[in-house]
Amino acid sequence: MRVLVTGGAGYIGSHTCVELINANFEVIVIDNLYNSSKVALDRVEKITGKKIEFYQIDLLCESDLEELFKKRKIESVIHFAGYKSVSESVENPLMYYTNNLSGTLVLLKVMNKFNVKKLVFSSSATVYTPAMGALDEEADLKATNPYGQTKLIIEQILRDLYISDNTWNISILRYFNPIGAHKSGEIGEDPDGIPNNLLPYITQVAVGKLEELKIYGNDYPTKDGTGVRDFIHVVDVARGHIKAIEYIDSSSGVSIFNLGTGRGYSVMELVSVFEEETKAKINYRVVDRRPGDTAICYSNPSKAEVELNWRAMKSIEEMCEDAWRWQLKNPNGYKVRKSEIWES
Ligand code: NAD
Ligand code: UDP
Repeated sequence: MRVLVTGGAGYIGSHTCVELINANFEVIVIDNLYNSSKVALDRVEKITGKKIEFYQIDLLCESDLEELFKKRKIESVIHFAGYKSVSESVENPLMYYTNNLSGTLVLLKVMNKFNVKKLVFSSSATVYTPAMGALDEEADLKATNPYGQTKLIIEQILRDLYISDNTWNISILRYFNPIGAHKSGEIGEDPDGIPNNLLPYITQVAVGKLEELKIYGNDYPTKDGTGVRDFIHVVDVARGHIKAIEYIDSSSGVSIFNLGTGRGYSVMELVSVFEEETKAKINYRVVDRRPGDTAICYSNPSKAEVELNWRAMKSIEEMCEDAWRWQLKNPNGYKVRKSEIWES
């Protein structure tokens, strides 16, 4: 089956391309490279030994997208492309609403025009109302920032689309906290500037690029007072997309699945596991809570287990080891290594 992957050069997209190619899907990637590098796709080719068909296209450019759909027969779409920083979305909501909503609307219009009606969409656990227990797909929804709003609005657009035309097959995947990297150390998370997320920050402290980790609060009602999250290996998240693509191929409707492990680890626990696995020392300091953070967020992933036959397999230890290998091999992320300049 030929799958179009929007945002395929990004963190989760590149890992998903590896799994798709390994499962014998034919992959076409589009990305405007706003938050990613073409090198990520070169590395996917290196890992899989297969060429990737790539187009540098901005989703907002309807005519470019139409050209592609005209030229290539696409059967289904995995839609990762979008902006993802909560803090940036609070500072610049119009940029987030424009890119995430308009990009998705253009994609859906073009898919509709070319009668391509199978879609897997990247949503997020951020759409849930904070709760102290495990969140299942029926939990109450509430967005607390523009980024989360874009996910909620797109979910609603997808439901409305299906009501209007029930030949659409759509799967919405709500990811919890994807971390880690591919085992090869060739692809991983490559934040631009100082990382916002916990594990990339930890690895940069460990490698000496940042001085100390700031732990945002140790007075939450959790086992050690630090925030608790459902960290999930990015390769498990990527595998979830293969299951979702197969699922929408044989069912119709709008389905929603959590992709999480079902187990929460605290910030302090993640720091300890990382230190234990890598023997690196993480300097840290506890500071005030980060505005907008919740105490606890973890999934009930049983729906995906029952209906998709998917379950997260990789341990927190493996998440830390793999993130560390990626960081050590690529201290500057995808900024091209000398050896690769000589190779090409
Ligand atoms: P990422 O930024 O690494 O990847 C997104 C990709 O989309 C980037 O390569 C970017 O260049 C591209 N892109 C953005 N706008 C585009 C546009 N208009 N046209 C074409 N390409 C465009 O992010 P990621 O971590 O891989 O996340 C992928 C998706 O998963 C996003 O939709 C994100 O909101 C969602 N998600 C991510 C997480 C996480 O923790 N990483 C958690 C929940 C949900
Ligand atoms: N966190 C932290 N220091 C950092 C980054 C994050 O203490 O530099 C904490 C944050 O308060 C939260 C957890 O780590 O409790 C996960 O944060 P992240 O930003 O990675 O994910 P999200 O907030 O989206 O769940």
